[in-house]
Amino acid sequence: MAFVVTDNCIRCKYTDCVAVCPADAFFEGPNFLVINPDDCIDCDLCPVECPAGAIYQEDEVPEDQQEFIKLNAELSQIWPRITDVKPAPEDAKEWDGVENKLKFLKIED
Ligand code: SF4
Ligand code: SF4
Repeated sequence: MAFVVTDNCIRCKYTDCVAVCPADAFFEGPNFLVINPDDCIDCDLCPVECPAGAIYQEDEVPEDQQEFIKLNAELSQIWPRITDVKPAPEDAKEWDGVENKLKFLKIED
């Protein structure tokens, strides 16, 4: 079982989760992070660190965000691994809590 990054990370990307992951399981896109399900060791450390509340265990992903399970698996194959915390986007606070941000997801810069 892996953990999954969902909609509210898009355009927030605080990266606090990266600091606690003992498995370096996070991968970084232009405005979103994903978890590689094969790297995640199910330690449950990251969800509480996420200021956006965007991380769920796979079997607890809300019904309307199920597509993020596949997105995490797929995008972690093409994005680079991220192991260091970096500053969030300047407008991250404004986007925190905005619903249905999938349309803003950038696959590449
Ligand atoms: S802490 Fe949450 S919002 Fe920030 S990058 Fe990680 S999953 Fe995304
Ligand atoms: S549950 Fe643990 S291993 Fe998996 S992504 Fe979160 S911090 Fe990393």
